[in-house]
Amino acid sequence: MAAAGILKVRLLGDPCLRRKSRPVKEVGPVERVLINSLFATLKEHKGVGLAAPQVGISEQIFVVDTGKDTFAVVNPKILKSEGRAATEEGCLSIPNLHVKVKRAEELVVEFTDEHDRRLRAEMSGLTARVFQHEHDHLNGKLIIDYLPGVRRAQALKQIKDGVFIGKTSHDAGHAREI
Ligand SMILES: [Zn+2]
Repeated sequence: MAAAGILKVRLLGDPCLRRKSRPVKEVGPVERVLINSLFATLKEHKGVGLAAPQVGISEQIFVVDTGKDTFAVVNPKILKSEGRAATEEGCLSIPNLHVKVKRAEELVVEFTDEHDRRLRAEMSGLTARVFQHEHDHLNGKLIIDYLPGVRRAQALKQIKDGVFIGKTSHDAGHAREI
């Protein structure tokens, strides 16, 4: 069994970010190593959420660490969502780009934890936002998909020209990297 370690975060343009993830049959030792590695990688990048597709693994697994809430999620389902709020978000797979994304403020969700237990939970605020962002990753959806056509094309061009990726400064406001 491999030990947990820091994994390489895949960036926009990598096809694994656009694949739909497979459900996990059972959460065992292999999945727990991946979960620990996701947590370690997330900490290294000072983010608040990281999904398996972001490290090239097309499985329905992600981790959340907002500082307040820390948990692993396998095979998630959003059962209920309420409220709407637009907040700037970043993504570890699209460095230095921030996009205002409208998302539900409160969620009722169901998921399997790292011990293979099926849980139901209610969440709100940043935790609910991170959950929805990571849930999108499992479906191959990225924050740039929320931009209107023209702005999306503009952002993609700027990314291609290296305006965002390759920048090292990390003072792009208050948005969190998810
Ligand atoms: Zn992301």
